[in-house]
Amino acid sequence: MLPYRTGLGYDIHRFAADRPLVLGGVTLPEGPGLAGHSDADCLTHAASDAILGALALPDIGAHFPPDDPTCKDMDSQEILAFAAGKAAEAGYAIGNLSLMVLAERPKLRPHIDAMRERLGTTLRLPADRIGIQATTHEGLGSLGRAEGIAALAQVLLWRGE
Ligand code: MG
Repeated sequence: MLPYRTGLGYDIHRFAADRPLVLGGVTLPEGPGLAGHSDADCLTHAASDAILGALALPDIGAHFPPDDPTCKDMDSQEILAFAAGKAAEAGYAIGNLSLMVLAERPKLRPHIDAMRERLGTTLRLPADRIGIQATTHEGLGSLGRAEGIAALAQVLLWRGE
């Protein structure tokens, strides 16, 4: 059994006018929301895929298919809890999680700590082990035209305390 495993996650969702904006498990007052079968929380999806990737398991789409009606509008914290459960089953604890949101808008800084707390609650992890950075795309490409939001995630799993 490896003492450590690292994982990488990425996700992107386009904006959709008629939905709430959920990022890192927090519903932000700023709109628009994101299109998607679940709550479209791309930050939580990236984090979940990083954990599954570290375990060499299939991505979240294989576990929560987009054509499965039971996944409609689902809370993505359930997806993240599922991924964390897979890590625990395999004998790993989450060391730390480093996340990045790529978004032209809204301004995310006021919401970062709430997202860290929310994700920490789902993962049963202190917030000081969850880093969230936010950057704009400097007007470049689809993200720069504010057509959606993307997120990157990196996780370290270890054999645990
Ligand atoms: Mg997604």
